[in-house]
Amino acid sequence: MTENIPQFESDDLLLVIDIQKDFCPGGALPITGGDEVVPVLNDWIKAARDAGVPIYLSRDWHPKHHLSFDESGGPWPPHCIQDTDGARFHPDLEVLHDAVVVTKGTRFDQDQNSAFDQTGLADWLQKLKIKRIYVGGLAQDVCVLATVLDGLEAGFEVALIKEATRPVTPDGGREALEKMRLAGAVSIE
Ligand SMILES: [Zn+2]
Repeated sequence: MTENIPQFESDDLLLVIDIQKDFCPGGALPITGGDEVVPVLNDWIKAARDAGVPIYLSRDWHPKHHLSFDESGGPWPPHCIQDTDGARFHPDLEVLHDAVVVTKGTRFDQDQNSAFDQTGLADWLQKLKIKRIYVGGLAQDVCVLATVLDGLEAGFEVALIKEATRPVTPDGGREALEKMRLAGAVSIE
């Protein structure tokens, strides 16, 4: 499974998007096969750690009754509510003590699908002189898509770890892959 992991460079970053219980089977907003990406990402996390590459984990972290929830007129069932069990990282994900957590979705006035959306992450990574970001996680056609596009927009090289993502819908996934490709993302098959 690790054969497609490239030799990391010192200015690389591994960014893992929203591997939380609510996005996996059995959760509040389950994505088909969402838990299947966990062992893939664990291999990447191990390789990144061995190479001394920083590992950042984003999480969706909503206040109760968030505007993205259907009860508030939004598109999604309530999910990833702060400090609930469903908001926890998947128990099998190798959450390392040295990983950095990026929290998003906390705003009351708008949703934040992208890990770069008003989190200050782009400036921070530029300060760290990161050039290339490897991205995997959930969901391929929502938060991964938004994060990849914003990362490219901010001037980073972005490589999508395709095997480490799953879409909400197959059609959405196909569209998202095409959008990311057209925007300049490299896809690691
Ligand atoms: Zn959300």
